[in-house]
Amino acid sequence: MKKTLYLKFMLAYFIFGVFCFIAVTVFVPNMTRERLIKEKAEALYSEATLISNTYASGLYTSETDLETVKTQLDALAVYLNSTIRIINPSGRLVLETQKPLNVEEVVIIDNFDPTAMGGSYYMVNTFFDTYSSNVLTVLAPITSNYMVKGYVAIHCDLGTIEASCNGLLRISYITLAIIMMLSVIILIFFTEIVYVPLRKITFATEQYAQGNMHYEFQVDSDDEIGYLAACLNYMAKQIAGTEDDQKKFVANVSHDFRSPLTSIRGFLEAMLDGTIPPEKHEHYLNIVLNETERLTKLTNGLLTLNNLNTKGMMLNRTDFNINDVIRATAASFEATCRSKTIAISLVLTGEEMYVNADLEKIQQVLYNLIDNAIKFSHHDSVICVETSLKKNKLFISVKDTGIGIPKEDQKFIWDRFYKSDSSRGKDKKGTGLGLSIVKEIINCHNEHINVVSTEGVGSEFIFSLPLSKKSSEED
Ligand code: ADP
Repeated sequence: MKKTLYLKFMLAYFIFGVFCFIAVTVFVPNMTRERLIKEKAEALYSEATLISNTYASGLYTSETDLETVKTQLDALAVYLNSTIRIINPSGRLVLETQKPLNVEEVVIIDNFDPTAMGGSYYMVNTFFDTYSSNVLTVLAPITSNYMVKGYVAIHCDLGTIEASCNGLLRISYITLAIIMMLSVIILIFFTEIVYVPLRKITFATEQYAQGNMHYEFQVDSDDEIGYLAACLNYMAKQIAGTEDDQKKFVANVSHDFRSPLTSIRGFLEAMLDGTIPPEKHEHYLNIVLNETERLTKLTNGLLTLNNLNTKGMMLNRTDFNINDVIRATAASFEATCRSKTIAISLVLTGEEMYVNADLEKIQQVLYNLIDNAIKFSHHDSVICVETSLKKNKLFISVKDTGIGIPKEDQKFIWDRFYKSDSSRGKDKKGTGLGLSIVKEIINCHNEHINVVSTEGVGSEFIFSLPLSKKSSEED
């Protein structure tokens, strides 16, 4: 991110400031000045029409004399802070306030042309060059018998208007300064609410990209940014967990491969260098054979798990009679059962019971469960495989009266390579993969498997399978 977001925001803030400044220093003064001039002109114009209708018209109808009008207009001009003139249509100045009345002196305003005002009732100029600088002038005609007899002109110095305009502008400048200062609050908010958390998130992402998945960070807000940070944290934890699992998995695999390989190598070397005499070779070769069997089992187990993981839901589902599969699997253990004098009792629901599942995989589930049951059963005991129907599902239980699983071990038995300590002693051929394969297969079928076990009493593994359409209709 390299601070660019912050720089962009600062730039936007600066541009906003410049535009505000231009608006307040260029447009506002012009608009204010125009508005003040217009207001003043309106006020003066109503005075001018009043004068033209009263004092001035009296002058032309000879009701009042020039002297009286002059005195009254002088007072009014002081009050209005302006100059009042009465001008004949020809441009002759009849009277001007604040100047002595001199009837002999004839003052003509050159180029006097009332139509120069256009449609407006006021103008800002030097009033036909009678002033050296611009003044505000309003002009009202004096009429009598529908004839224009003259004009009342009121001139106001722009200085007073400028002064009040400046007064008003000062208020605008102060307001602008206050707005700019207050908008710093937005900048602070942006920094605290958006920029700082984003920096934390960016830094964390950099850490994760470098492989430091254990990096933790805190963003205390319950908005979208807080949610993003929480999601990122969670994702990193998950990846870190997977990485740890992976390391543990590799460590387990290497350990489980290394120990049989070491013993095979040890026995073979001892046989070759004569440490083991030839008459004992058969005994040790059998041990070596057992070890290779274990390695084959381990490799097959790993391959099965890997296939289940990569293929995911890719099951070859068919409708098959589970009773046949249970009978066939149980029969395959006949020799093992005979050697341990163990009996397998089958309590199956119906002659035929069709389920919809992957036949080969379910066969493997049954094989692993019965294999474990025999392994962990005492001599002269009975293993019971039972099926029962419940809400369109077939529940299959494999129950033994063997050594059982300690309570504290029960949550670990589904983990890869997990073998309880007691079973390590009892079952050297175990790989610790059997139940994780079982769980994976049942999960792929979107079904469940549970264990109920008491140490020293026995274990029961129960899993469910969906009935085939045919069986559910019959049901
Ligand atoms: P293994 O190849 O060692 O049998 P599993 O994954 O099949 O691996 O089983 C994991 C562990 O669960 C076993 O080592 C054993 O401790 C325990 N276990 C599994 N089935 C039974 C059972 N029927 N009775 C007692 N313990 C069992």
